[in-house]
Amino acid sequence: MSALSLTDDNGHQLGGIVDHRLTRRALINEYRRGRLRKDQVCDAHPELLRAARNFGDETIVKCPICVDDTVVLVTYVFGPRLPSHGRCITKPAELDEFRRIARTSVSGDYTAYVVEACRSCGWHHLLRTLALNPEREARTPRRRSASR
Ligand SMILES: [Zn+2]
Repeated sequence: MSALSLTDDNGHQLGGIVDHRLTRRALINEYRRGRLRKDQVCDAHPELLRAARNFGDETIVKCPICVDDTVVLVTYVFGPRLPSHGRCITKPAELDEFRRIARTSVSGDYTAYVVEACRSCGWHHLLRTLALNPEREARTPRRRSASR
């Protein structure tokens, strides 16, 4: 099981998660139908690939495009005082640290973006986004933005 799986120590799913698996599946279908070229879906930024090679969290999921390699998960955190391109999480303890900061933060929200990436072909897709301070999120319910 992935170290960055979205369950707490008791195996419960944590709140504030947005799952992007449907858009992922749609994209893969478009590729398999020939409506998208490989270079249109395997265009991971060199920085993402570097992060995937160095800090990627191994999975047993085969890459949906090349099927040669398994995908790895890379997590970025966005929030106050972090770089505009996000901060790449290099070890699971860092995510816990951001959860702790997020709970007490008054300056804004911290959000983690979990991206899957293939180190072989450059396929990448956003898997899920999660609010790192779901308790606060729960207190100020927001309308779900219209899904595209
Ligand atoms: Zn691949």
